[in-house]
Amino acid sequence: MKTRRGVCYSVAPEELRRGKRRKVDQFEALPDDLVVSIFAKLSASADSPSDLISLLLVCKRFNGLVIDPSVLSVASEKCLIIRAKKWCEPAHRFLRRFVDAGNVEACYILGMIKFYALGNRPTGAALMARAAMRRHAAALYTLAVIQFNGSGGSRHDRDLRAGFALCCRAAACGGLDALRELAYCLQDGYGVKRSIVSGRRLLIVTASLELEYHLAPAAEEHVHVANQFLSEWFFTRRNTLEEKGLRLCSHEQCGRAETRLHEFRRCSVCGLVNYCSRSCQALHWRKVHKTECMPVEQYLDNAAFAGPD
Ligand SMILES: [Zn+2]
Ligand SMILES: [Zn+2]
Repeated sequence: MKTRRGVCYSVAPEELRRGKRRKVDQFEALPDDLVVSIFAKLSASADSPSDLISLLLVCKRFNGLVIDPSVLSVASEKCLIIRAKKWCEPAHRFLRRFVDAGNVEACYILGMIKFYALGNRPTGAALMARAAMRRHAAALYTLAVIQFNGSGGSRHDRDLRAGFALCCRAAACGGLDALRELAYCLQDGYGVKRSIVSGRRLLIVTASLELEYHLAPAAEEHVHVANQFLSEWFFTRRNTLEEKGLRLCSHEQCGRAETRLHEFRRCSVCGLVNYCSRSCQALHWRKVHKTECMPVEQYLDNAAFAGPD
């Protein structure tokens, strides 16, 4: 039986005889694997965690099918948004479910939370390594930053060559931050043999990719869920960090905090801002710091000044 719009109704024969028509939920007639594949598509394009959570509340059958690993493993980054002020054990279990299902974004987000926010360095690094093995650019880049800074260890634990190698992999996976970092590494000879020409060339490539990204229709600045979480987390704990003498990365959209004293690099001109990486320093310089670094008069007087190192 079809409606005017051509949608099929399942009508029970007895009810038909009696002239009664009952509209049956179309999902009830679908086999489980088909419903799971529909949920997987929804999960991959979800704009917020509530898209999945609302499905959990529909009925017992939906509740069982939404937590299928094939649905959780493809969940989008936005589906994993967790606010720092709402962090609690159930929120941890929520993320853990996605991690156990093999969701790469969840591995990276939980890895960042454990490593930087909760101070559980081995588990955090292991989770990020899991994402990195699946070619997750942001995870590879964060592992590079950890190697460059010797995060979680002492100054002697810094491994510049390993950091550079991870950065190369991250850039090959499409990481723009990693590509920018790579260019500055080549220009400064940091973790690799110095090549000013190659560094400059790579900076031009990075600039053109950034321009392309910003000119894309409906382009808006993308801050990863993990960085957003860390920014919120440390914003409410600034006093505790200051008491320990630890500093935050001055690039607001980064969110990383020092894991030991004097871990981050400082602006060599004013010494008032700190950065976890050269990439953060370059971005912050361009957006904010070039107008704040020193008085304009001093800036104009200093003809040799060409930006922070
Ligand atoms: Zn940073
Ligand atoms: Zn400065």
